[in-house]
Amino acid sequence: MLKSVNMMDVECVSVSDYATSFNDTHITSNTTGSAPGAAAPEPESSKNKSAETLKEFDQDMPVQEGDILIPESRNAVHTLWPDATTSYIITDELVSREAEIKAAFKMISDVTCIRFKKRDTESSYLKLVTGNGCASFVGCQGGAQRLFFASECTVGNLCHELLHALGLYHEHTREDRDKYVTVNWQNIVAGKENNFKVKHGNTQNLPYDLASIMHYGRDFFSTNGNPTVLPKQSGVEIGQRKHLSQLDIERLNKLYSCGKL
Ligand SMILES: [Zn+2]
Repeated sequence: MLKSVNMMDVECVSVSDYATSFNDTHITSNTTGSAPGAAAPEPESSKNKSAETLKEFDQDMPVQEGDILIPESRNAVHTLWPDATTSYIITDELVSREAEIKAAFKMISDVTCIRFKKRDTESSYLKLVTGNGCASFVGCQGGAQRLFFASECTVGNLCHELLHALGLYHEHTREDRDKYVTVNWQNIVAGKENNFKVKHGNTQNLPYDLASIMHYGRDFFSTNGNPTVLPKQSGVEIGQRKHLSQLDIERLNKLYSCGKL
């Protein structure tokens, strides 16, 4: 069962604390008809394609897959936010972007049980900072956890980073991805091939999702403008950063046992 916890003194909690209270039924969004998530501002396409890869080129911190700040396998995600609530602080340099930050929170809180609240005395919290690119650790790390929201990043990019912070990895590195996408290794910037390597681990028994906000776009890490990752199904767009897909919503609701809290 999910532990009854006091938000003020609890650290990150384990996945099993949530998972054992979940009956494996897919939870669907309670939205009706319209696309899930709040309408995010249209991303500037040129920025959207690269903002999540800037941190890796910057090389001031160890990253993997462009915007993931800690090298771990998918299975290493074992820390979630207590009571499906993420505390945060916004550093002074980002105060002018508070409306955008709130919009990204809303994209998630509108369609899941996950909530964001300004930090009071919680020991684990997100610290939104600027810097080069957009980047996040995966899962709740404990203590002040930086999440990079630089000028290049859109609200949709920030939402993507928040999903990392909540515990999700990139969709295109799932172990079953070769059934759904083709990776064109010859088009990838030399030395950046590791961003496309499959990571074994938990997919939460949910289908592969080309529409995920956690899926890479066609030309991420492209050295020549040609696609690095292409869906096998023709006419399908990948790499959207406008809203959570239906499966993104299910994945988060499953991870945090929404409806069971
Ligand atoms: Zn990412």
